[in-house]
Amino acid sequence: MLEINEIFGPTIQGEGKKIGFPSVFVRFGKCNMSCAGFEVEYETPSGIKKCSCDSFYASDIAFRDEWQKYETAIALIKEVDKFLPGYKVDIVLTGGEPLLYWKNEEFQKFMKHYIKNGHHLTIETNGSIDIELCEDWQKEILFSLSVKLSNSGESLEKRLNTNTLTNIINFTNESYLKFVISSDFLDKAILEIENILSQIPKCDVYLMPLGDTSELIDKNSLSVIELAIKKGFKYSDRLHIRVWNNKRGV
Ligand code: SF4
Repeated sequence: MLEINEIFGPTIQGEGKKIGFPSVFVRFGKCNMSCAGFEVEYETPSGIKKCSCDSFYASDIAFRDEWQKYETAIALIKEVDKFLPGYKVDIVLTGGEPLLYWKNEEFQKFMKHYIKNGHHLTIETNGSIDIELCEDWQKEILFSLSVKLSNSGESLEKRLNTNTLTNIINFTNESYLKFVISSDFLDKAILEIENILSQIPKCDVYLMPLGDTSELIDKNSLSVIELAIKKGFKYSDRLHIRVWNNKRGV
């Protein structure tokens, strides 16, 4: 069963390697982490107060009743196709943690369908789950690996899976790492990032400013740009937040 929190678009990809590309987003429900360190407070439908990331409505199974359930790839494709504008947009699988569905045959059929039909497909993932890559078409998946640092509040064992990162980087054509950091976490962040990079193959690395409003992005962006320049990483803005202030569904 594929559990989908929301489908939206066409809009633009707001961050990472494909920033600015017209895209349709498919947001999967469930996550293997809860990232309390990101300090977004919310209340579950049954009134329990919790703290997590700004995608809590997709990561926390307390919201499961609000997710759409699809038994087959065909059923989900039929729904996603309603959002396609008539030209080839990117398909972006996000979450939650979409790789929780990797072993599901219908998930594989869903991805293969769009790749075989000429769409570029990105998976936005925390990169911590064991997956097997063996089919040729899977080389074309762009894994946007948003590996979590200690500011997420998760343990190192849970958030860092160097085997998975190594397999993905070696097997696919253009996957990359991205790290979201704030100006008060730069020194610690760079030590942690360099430690992670020392354990995996070389790939593109993007630094992005933390923030769910354009004011916060403004506050953090200059120091993150300076760090990227100093260390030879790429900088990615978070365009969707600047333009829409993290409004859902755009
Ligand atoms: S891994 Fe990502 S989606 Fe999951 S709780 Fe952490 S920030 Fe949210």
